Amino acid sequence: MTPKETWPYADIVAKITADFPHESAATILDLLDEYKGVEKVRVVRCILHLANGGIDQLLELIGTANTDYRDVIYWAEYDLDDQRIHDFGQPFAIATETGYDCGQLSYIGGRPYLPSGTEIPMCAVCSARMCFFFQVALSAGHHWQHTILAMFHCISCCSEDALIPEMLTVPLKGAEIPLEFLTHYQTNFRIIIGDIATASYRNDYDPLIEYIPINSSTWRVGAKPQWLLDDETPGSYEALEATFLFQVPSGLIFPKCSGAPAQKTLNLEGQIVDAQQRHYELFLGNAVYFFGFGSPASEHTYILTQAD
Ligand SMILES: [Zn+2]
Repeated sequence: MTPKETWPYADIVAKITADFPHESAATILDLLDEYKGVEKVRVVRCILHLANGGIDQLLELIGTANTDYRDVIYWAEYDLDDQRIHDFGQPFAIATETGYDCGQLSYIGGRPYLPSGTEIPMCAVCSARMCFFFQVALSAGHHWQHTILAMFHCISCCSEDALIPEMLTVPLKGAEIPLEFLTHYQTNFRIIIGDIATASYRNDYDPLIEYIPINSSTWRVGAKPQWLLDDETPGSYEALEATFLFQVPSGLIFPKCSGAPAQKTLNLEGQIVDAQQRHYELFLGNAVYFFGFGSPASEHTYILTQAD
């Protein structure tokens, strides 16, 4: 694992965004790249912790670290009685227990944060590389806290029976999800679950959708679902309880980057054609409800849609 593949970590970018609101994260990351010593991730966290949002302090600390990185670690991790109070080998939320603003990590378009080594998913229907639509980070206190969910969807194929995710044939409220269902129903879409502490920003992904921060109140992050129709909260999967994660508001559009290919759609004759809009749609613009089962590590997610 080279630093390039995992750099920068999501918690570091979130800390930079929170501490340096008037600078671009890229500018600060470029400065931090001037640290050439060992234990880069830990030392960078120490520098950010000590700089506390001051750009002059940041520059000075980078200089100090290049002379002797142990000074910076000592100042950041030990108190006046030589007791170790932080471990910046760990992500900020764990190292300082102050948490970070997950709002900064929830957005439409741009590039995703993914667990290291994760391939951009391929469509099971047409084998094309899928398009990154959005990601949502769940903050401390949520049952799935410190989790990033990244949503991919295929824009290269279209079929009548895959316009929305496959639905169960039983009444949806309280439904027990059949054992195999969740492992097979992600055909032309994919939900990737990452740990906020180790997910890394994918510079190698070419964005197709314009970056827009998500409004966590309309997405009901950490709240209860707002059903357009009847309550369709699922029951369980393999005896694991369902947790509501968030919902995509109905009618949402995903503006295309210039040069991004057209999304495939069906014309009135049912033939596959290029959609003419300057945006992509997800599941016909329906509201999409996201649930998880058990803990994030199980990676069992379930989505269903409703239209008004
Ligand atoms: Zn496809």
